[in-house]
Amino acid sequence: MATLKHYINGRWETGVTLGTRENPSDLSDTVAEFARADTAQTESAIRAAADARDEWALSTPQRRFDVLDAIGSEILARKEELGRLLAREEGKTLVEGIGETARAGQIFKFFAGEALRIPGEKLASVRPGVEVEVTREPVGVVGLIAPWNFPLAIPAWKIAPALAYGNAVVFKPAELVPACASALADIISRSGLPAGVFNLVMGSGRQVGQALVDSPLVDAISFTGSVGVGQGILKAATARQARVQLEMGGKNPLVVLHDADIAQAVDCAIQGAFFSTGQRCTASSRIIVTPGIFDRFVGALRERTQALVVDNALKRGTEIGPVVSQAQLEQNLAYVESGRHEGAELLVGGQRVKRDTEGYFMSPALFIAEPEHRIAREEIFGPVACVIRARDSEHALSLANDTPFGLCAGVCTTSLKHAAHFKRHLRAGMVMVNLPTAGVDFHVPFGGRKGSSYGPREQGRYAAEFYTTVKTAYINA
Ligand code: NAP
Ligand code: MG
Repeated sequence: MATLKHYINGRWETGVTLGTRENPSDLSDTVAEFARADTAQTESAIRAAADARDEWALSTPQRRFDVLDAIGSEILARKEELGRLLAREEGKTLVEGIGETARAGQIFKFFAGEALRIPGEKLASVRPGVEVEVTREPVGVVGLIAPWNFPLAIPAWKIAPALAYGNAVVFKPAELVPACASALADIISRSGLPAGVFNLVMGSGRQVGQALVDSPLVDAISFTGSVGVGQGILKAATARQARVQLEMGGKNPLVVLHDADIAQAVDCAIQGAFFSTGQRCTASSRIIVTPGIFDRFVGALRERTQALVVDNALKRGTEIGPVVSQAQLEQNLAYVESGRHEGAELLVGGQRVKRDTEGYFMSPALFIAEPEHRIAREEIFGPVACVIRARDSEHALSLANDTPFGLCAGVCTTSLKHAAHFKRHLRAGMVMVNLPTAGVDFHVPFGGRKGSSYGPREQGRYAAEFYTTVKTAYINA
C-alpha cells in the first residue's frame, strides 16, 4: 500500500510521522497509511499559499470556471469508485457514499458557474463627476478545517467557493478520513491550478489545525466540527483579527403534530435520526410528539427502528453502517447508559452488535426521555434518538426551541396553518416541513443560529460573504 502524501506547493510530500486508518466495518482492512505534518511543515504550506495568492486572485473567471468544472466533472464521472472509498473509510452505506460523492461534484459545478457571476455595483457619487464602484475581492489565504462525517461534501463546499472567489487554500481534513481527502487532492492537483493555490496538509488538529489558526499569513479560517474545538478557534482567530466561520453541533428537533401523516412522519424520523449512523450535524435527535398521535407514531417508529439492517457499509442491503471509531462508539454507549441511569425509557436498541466482519456496529437506540435528560440536551453524534412528549402544539414549539443549538428543525403536519406557524417560529438556520431534518440541497445556504454556527452561511451564493471582501472605489474621471 502506497503511503498517502501531503500536497504542498504543487508537489507530493512525505510527512514527519505516519498514521493509519482502518475500515470501521472491517478492522482487518487497512484503508490508508498517511503522512502527518508538524507545525513547521504546515507553515511551509501556508507560505506556499501566501506566495501563490496574487496570481490566483488576478485569474480570469474563465480560468476559475475551467478548473472547478474539471474537478466537478471528474468527481461525478468517478462517483461509484469514490463513493465506495468513502463508505469503506467513513462507514456510511455505499448508497449514501455515492450520493455524497455526487453532491461534492455538483458543488464544484455550482461554484464553477458562480466564478462567472461575481457581482459588483456601480453608483453615482453624491459628489459631482465622481463614480463609485463596489466590487468583491478574494480574502487571501484561507485555512479550511473539516470533520470526518462528510469527508467529500464538506471539503467540497469549502474548497470550491474558496477557489471560485480567487483565494489560496490550505486544507486540513480530519485524521479519520485521509483517503477521501487524498483522492480529492489528487483530482484538484490535475485541474490546472498554479502551484501553491491548493495545499493538502494531514495531521492532528492540535498541530496542523492550530498552526492554521495561529498563522498571521492565514486571513480566514472556515471550520466545521465540534463546539469545543470551534470555540477555541474563535478565540484564537479573533484575537489576531482573522476572519472566521464556524459550523458546529446540533440537537435538532423534529416535531410530529397530531395531524401528521404517520407513514411520512416515521420516514422523516428514521431517516433524520439514524441514516448515516446518526453522524450528521443535522440529525433529528429530539422527536417531539403531541398527544392524539403519540402511541400510534411511537409504536410504528419503534418497529421501524428495530427492523433497520445494521451491517458492513459495503454490503448490499445495509441500511445503517458502523459508528466511525472506537472512541465514538464508546461515547454513544455511555450516552445510552446515562439515559437509562437518568430514568429515560429505552424502547429498542442501544447495544454493540456483532456481524461477520469485526467493526464498530451498534443497534440504533430509541428512548422516551424527559427534556432535561442529558441524552435530550447534548449532541451525541450517533444513532441515538429521544422521543419527548409535548402537551400540545405550542408546548412542542417551545420544547423545540429550548436548546442551546439552532442548526435545523422540522415539523410534520398536514395543516397549512401549523406549517406556517412553525416555519416562522422555529429558531434554527434551516427549517423542514414534512421532510427529514438531515438532507439539504447543494445550491442554497447552509448553517445555523445560536450555538450551532458563527459567521456567514456556507454554500449557495451566500458563500461569497465569507470568501470575499468588499472594496469601494471612487473614481473622479
Ligand atoms: P472535531 O473533533 O471538532 O474536529 C473537526 C476538525 O478540527 C478536525 O479536522 C480536527 O482534527 C480539527 N481540530 C481538532 N482540534 C483542533 C484545534 N485545536 N485547532 C484546529 N483544528 C482542530 O469534530 P469531529 O469529531 O471531526 O466532527 C464531529 C463534530 O462536527 C460534531 O460535533 C458535529 O456536529 C460537527 N459537524 C457540524 C457540521 C455543521 O455543518 N454544522 C457538519 C458536520 C459535523 P483531527 O481530526 O485531527 O482531530
Ligand atoms: Mg473529534
